[in-house]
Amino acid sequence: MSEKYDLLIIGAGPGGYTAAIHAAQSGMSVALVEEREALGGTCANVGCIPSKALLHSTELYSDIASHGKKHGIIADNLHIDIKTLQERKDDVVNRLTKGVGTLMKHNKVTVLYGLGWIIDAHTVEIRSKQETTQVHCEKLLLATGSEVQGIPSIPFDGKNIISSDEALELRTIPKELVIIGAGVIGLELGSVWARLGSKVTLLEGMGEILPGWDKELARSARKEFEKQGLNFVLNARVSKAETQKKKVYLHTEDGGDAYVGDNVLVAVGRKPRLSGFNLESLDLAYTPGGRSLAVDENYQTSVENVYAIGDIIPGPMLAHKALEEAVVFIERINGVSSRLRQETIPNVVYTAPELASVGKTEEQLKEENIEYAKSKSLMSANGRSIAMDNTTGFVKVLASKANDRILGIHIFGPQASHLIAEAVSAMDFDSSSEDLRRIVHAHPTLSEVLKEASMGIIGKKVH
Ligand code: NAD
Repeated sequence: MSEKYDLLIIGAGPGGYTAAIHAAQSGMSVALVEEREALGGTCANVGCIPSKALLHSTELYSDIASHGKKHGIIADNLHIDIKTLQERKDDVVNRLTKGVGTLMKHNKVTVLYGLGWIIDAHTVEIRSKQETTQVHCEKLLLATGSEVQGIPSIPFDGKNIISSDEALELRTIPKELVIIGAGVIGLELGSVWARLGSKVTLLEGMGEILPGWDKELARSARKEFEKQGLNFVLNARVSKAETQKKKVYLHTEDGGDAYVGDNVLVAVGRKPRLSGFNLESLDLAYTPGGRSLAVDENYQTSVENVYAIGDIIPGPMLAHKALEEAVVFIERINGVSSRLRQETIPNVVYTAPELASVGKTEEQLKEENIEYAKSKSLMSANGRSIAMDNTTGFVKVLASKANDRILGIHIFGPQASHLIAEAVSAMDFDSSSEDLRRIVHAHPTLSEVLKEASMGIIGKKVH
């Protein structure tokens, strides 16, 4: 007889596996279906985690190479062993993905490896190399994540024209790497390979890098990354590629000169994974435009007992968003009316320095005619920053002119990914800039720049 579970989840990424754990902890019988051989989804296997491992190794290397001497660290014959660098990254990934497997065991979640092929709202076929079985469920959760979105006229060939999947795996350092798209993947992977010696050029279709981010932050970051050796071409919308003698020639829509590279990384976004597993059979409703699945406040799709979270529903395609949706989803099916505040989901780019942001940008506030006060505090005015020899960047606080409530915080600077947590907490508690400036911040820490920036809202900066 085939198995029946209270909850069957397709996709073992941060959304799927978090939902599995919470569901099991609330007493449900749970099965998690995963097509990859390892758990953890894009994030752990080919996304957040491997990229952070490479970013960390290469930052260490470039720090010692460019600042070592100043600190009295003499590392003659400093060089990169790419094999070891990649093996360490693979170890990190293995450790993480195995860890997810252990969590499943501890929580008594059944993991079913194979493609989850939907038969109906209560039946899924598990298609593995070895066998095909059917499982039944009371509730079905779709957490299938996203996949690379290419440019139709520039097909991937896995060698010269590659996606982030291959760019994380390169075993030789490209001489010339051209990246289409100066978004988050372009900047992170561009930084990795530039630090290892590649000549990196980023072709960006818009007038500034990181479209959608606060423009002042993006502009400052671009200028800093230029100093680090990244070349940016703005307003360069790539529409065509030709490969000749292992070189790729890229052409932009305006018909100017071609850009040439040994490797071309196409990093123009990701799209929801909504095909290849018979989803059509459920006849689900989509959002206007058809990009994502439409869900209600319980994450239920238009079909009863079929739910969806993560990259396949509206909102930013971020692991932490999927993970929080998983928590809220399980709470709501258990009668707790929790909700995720979309407006306080942080965004991070893990370059050096990092960028991190929460809430509205100045551009959004202007567009929405919201009157705001603005204050900026520089990393270079912070004692800890100076001690760390890491003084690039600033924190910008935007607060309502009407009631001082914080509307947005944007950080470009060392450890911005950690600093943003305080900004998120403050905004989640609807704090004012006064709340933030009255909180005691340990000295000397980078977090004082956040306090200092909020003091500037009333013109009372100390540094
Ligand atoms: P992105 O949306 O961040 O950036 C894509 C960039 O490509 C944009 O700047 C866009 O203007 C540009 N572009 C699009 N078409 C173009 C063309 N034809 N020519 C030139 N430029 C063009 O997408 P991404 O960097 O591919 O990342 C995909 C997703 O992966 C992100 O949305 C994010 O959710 C996720 N991700 C997140 C992180 C993180 O949180 N640190 C890191 C990596 C990936």
